[in-house]
Amino acid sequence: MILGVPKESYPGERRVALVPVVIPNLTKAGFEVVVESGAGAGAGYPDELYTEKGAKILPERAAVFAQADIVVQVLCYGSNDITGKADLPLMRRGQALIGFLRPLGSVEVIQEIARTGVTSFAVELMPRTTRAQNMDALSSMGTICGYKAVLLAGVTLPKIFPMLTTAAGTITPARVFVIGAGVAGLQAIATARRLGAVVSAYDMRPAAKEQVQSLGGRFVELPIEAKNAQDARGYGTAQDESFYARQRELLGRAVAESDVVIATAVVPGKKAPVLITADMVKHMAPGSVIVDLAAERGGNCELSQAGKVVIAHDVKIIGEINLASEVPYHASQMYARNLTAFLTYLAKDGKLRVDADDEIVRETLLTRDGEIVNARVREFFKLPEPAASRQ
Ligand code: NAD
Repeated sequence: MILGVPKESYPGERRVALVPVVIPNLTKAGFEVVVESGAGAGAGYPDELYTEKGAKILPERAAVFAQADIVVQVLCYGSNDITGKADLPLMRRGQALIGFLRPLGSVEVIQEIARTGVTSFAVELMPRTTRAQNMDALSSMGTICGYKAVLLAGVTLPKIFPMLTTAAGTITPARVFVIGAGVAGLQAIATARRLGAVVSAYDMRPAAKEQVQSLGGRFVELPIEAKNAQDARGYGTAQDESFYARQRELLGRAVAESDVVIATAVVPGKKAPVLITADMVKHMAPGSVIVDLAAERGGNCELSQAGKVVIAHDVKIIGEINLASEVPYHASQMYARNLTAFLTYLAKDGKLRVDADDEIVRETLLTRDGEIVNARVREFFKLPEPAASRQ
């Protein structure tokens, strides 16, 4: 089975789907690897490192798609809504495609992918089970983003993070408030703590409290309770607007008292809830920083703009998107390990095992034989039953 690694084409994207170090494991599992020339360069993995590990370098993108039985990408069409479409004519029926496909994004785009006949697997749909933990790319990228968000805040804030007692007096520590204590939020808490900040955090899932505290953060309790705060997969659920309004009211004080707010609250497939209003920003001290990791999904802060830094009321609101690409070496390494675990799980006797009885396959398989086959995605977009099951 030939695995193809095209160069990422999303503007500014520096990650790569496979790094050289995973190639021997893939070879052992029966894969050959072909890589588009320069695919790893932005992440610190030049072509020679791939060749040393036994991969073949191809100068042409089209040749990578033509030779590959399985194409692996970071941002496939779907998540790459700028240049991803150009890859569609390169795909063929029966070929497999694995990567971020934004399966709950646009149904038209997923239908376009389906129509190529490609057998696609969306890594975002990986079940959150113990067995699939080492294949969970969302968690890997969340970890990277949470870390980098704190560093961004650190270089932007006109203060230092730790408490210092010096001959020039005592400096009080920065106060960092993290909203949403999932994977990214927890990593942000840990990173800010390591830098010496005083950290507090809030999440509507009660289960997050213990995790925040175990990292040395103070859990901010609000006197409201979310209805079924957590779904079966562990994700936060969408709440009604009156819940969000009450949250905004109650979060005001914690936001106003913070030098840095790292906002990570998202709900799969939904616009991110607005939890920080313009008025709340107004009450923050001049020079404060908000890093809105939800900016791409509409933003947790009312004033955020995706991909931009907005200055309002003397507060910098960083709406950076695709932050994982800013740490391309380790983001690619983690992603490549996730993919390798997934690929070696799928491979059997030199073939890809597309067994719908298997939970990991069933949950991640997005399109096959020209159709969107994923039950969760079909239900999300309210699509009628697929043709195969109508017969
Ligand atoms: P996510 O990126 O979807 O969301 C980030 C956080 O935002 C979540 O914790 C969510 O509860 C929170 N949030 C959403 N709406 C909110 C609101 N209105 N107010 C406050 N907070 C809100 O989540 P994630 O980082 O992918 O992780 C979610 C959970 O899944 C975590 O508990 C994580 O530990 C768990 N998880 C489990 C596994 C596994 O078992 N293999 C793997 C990864 C994550």
